[in-house]
Amino acid sequence: MTDSTVKSPPYVDKVIEALADGDEPHLMNGEQYLKSLADGRRVIAADGTEVDDVASHPVTGPAAQTFAKVMDLQFDPKWRDIVTYADPVTGARKSRGWQVPTTRDDLYRKREQIGATTRTTLGMFGRPPDYGPAMSLGFMAIIDRVQAESPEFADNIRNFVQMSGEHNLLSTDLIADAQSDRSVPRNDRPATLRVVDERPDGIVLRGSKIAGSSGSITHFFTLSTTLGEGLGPDAAIWAAIPVNLPGLSLLLREPTINGPVSREDHPLNAAGEEMDQMIVFDDVFVPREYVFSLRNLDFLKLYFESCVYVLWHIMTRLAYRAEIFAGTAQVITEILGTDKVPGVRRAVAEITTYAQTLRAFSIAAIADSQTWNGVEVPHPGLVSAGRLHSITNYNRIMYTLQDLCGQGLISRWPEKIWDHPEFGPKLDAFLPGHGVTAREKNRFFSFVYDLTASGNAQRLGLFENVNATPPSFIAELVYQHVDRSETAQFVREYAGIADADLPS
Ligand SMILES: Cc1cc2nc3c(=O)[nH]c(=O)nc-3n(C[C@H](O)[C@H](O)[C@H](O)COP(=O)(O)OP(=O)(O)OC[C@H]3O[C@@H](n4cnc5c(N)ncnc54)[C@H](O)[C@@H]3O)c2cc1C
Repeated sequence: MTDSTVKSPPYVDKVIEALADGDEPHLMNGEQYLKSLADGRRVIAADGTEVDDVASHPVTGPAAQTFAKVMDLQFDPKWRDIVTYADPVTGARKSRGWQVPTTRDDLYRKREQIGATTRTTLGMFGRPPDYGPAMSLGFMAIIDRVQAESPEFADNIRNFVQMSGEHNLLSTDLIADAQSDRSVPRNDRPATLRVVDERPDGIVLRGSKIAGSSGSITHFFTLSTTLGEGLGPDAAIWAAIPVNLPGLSLLLREPTINGPVSREDHPLNAAGEEMDQMIVFDDVFVPREYVFSLRNLDFLKLYFESCVYVLWHIMTRLAYRAEIFAGTAQVITEILGTDKVPGVRRAVAEITTYAQTLRAFSIAAIADSQTWNGVEVPHPGLVSAGRLHSITNYNRIMYTLQDLCGQGLISRWPEKIWDHPEFGPKLDAFLPGHGVTAREKNRFFSFVYDLTASGNAQRLGLFENVNATPPSFIAELVYQHVDRSETAQFVREYAGIADADLPS
């Protein structure tokens, strides 16, 4: 079915089976995607039970259904040209995410794809289907360094990207270590993931990694240890990890949404939540074709470079979310009739400015893109500065949105009360908004509650703050990587201190 010259890849049998059921050789619709997840993966729910089927389990199922909707966009004439592209060699349709961008136009189209997903998921998932390829594209952008380490590993990366595009795979990344006592040297911590055996056909891994959000409903983890020094060679590993590898266990965190919820009461929570987890490697064999780097201590500090697309995706998703925040602010004030109050308009303008600033960052990063190894890369300095802005202002924007609602976020009643024969009519009479019925107003504030104040919204706020390193770490990236030398020299000359000694 595929135009691949690569031999059938290990651990993707269920994906291949699902693809064989469809009309497109390289694209899965939602139903095919859900079927592809029944691949023997081991997922442990917070109540200690094993999840039989992530596509239908109450904790993971609603999110899988939401991802299925994103996959269906690939077959929707309205979105098809945005979320897929025609392979320039074969003409076959493939997922836009796996397209290796070689022009600015490619990046602009990827940006539109992030917009399409954000409209479908409200951006409540930091690791949606289109995010997954970002890490691998980062590897492609620095492929010369991998090539210098090992031409075989560089080929493994190229083949993985090609194979993933041909099979419409979903992935998410593993970078951060599990949090533990910092007084113990990093390499001596029991959780540290390391190679415990190397064989001609692959490597054996023991230890753990953290978060890999969405991993339980994707097909692969992309693993790259890049967040700093202090590890020994056996812990310096880059690889693709099939989620269903024997010996791999995913321990899900406690859910924030309890049981199935109605769309009327919780419009966003009904779409599920992104589960985070600890990933336990219990002597897991990884086939050599999925190994991308091994024992290369030079790669331990390559976070800024290898994550160029990851960080841009995260910022761009938040830019689209911010536009949704601005639209939400507008509707709040219109239905409360506060839209003519100067102080209220100023608050809406503040949220709008946040959205416009992030929009500018995400577009400017493309307009000022760079070419690395023939791959077009969003400007990494602009991405880091935009990321820092997006998360350091996030809580204030959430607070402003909540404040605009007044009692609306609290004074909400579930549908059973609206349907109550005695009290429903009273609520109808007592609570109308401007231009909306009382029940419509209630439904809208349930939407705003899910967006800004629910347990799921709180988890997302925590996620936005640290999911791709905390603000202080990003600030250090901005400090180190955004060049100020030319203007610093200009200022020295202007001030007449050009000949003074530079600080060491
Ligand atoms: C919900 C969620 C989802 C995540 N998703 C992913 C994922 O998909 N993939 C992945 O690989 N990781 C993911 N992460 C992990 C994330 O990258 C880490 O949490 C983050 O890098 C912080 O590391 P830590 O939690 O070990 O904090 P610690 O290292 O324990 O640090 C705690 C705090 O100390 C301060 N601090 C630490 N180091 C520095 C420093 N160098 N400079 C200044 N201040 C510092 C910061 O305030 C920091 O928040 C996720 C985390 C969360 C909570």
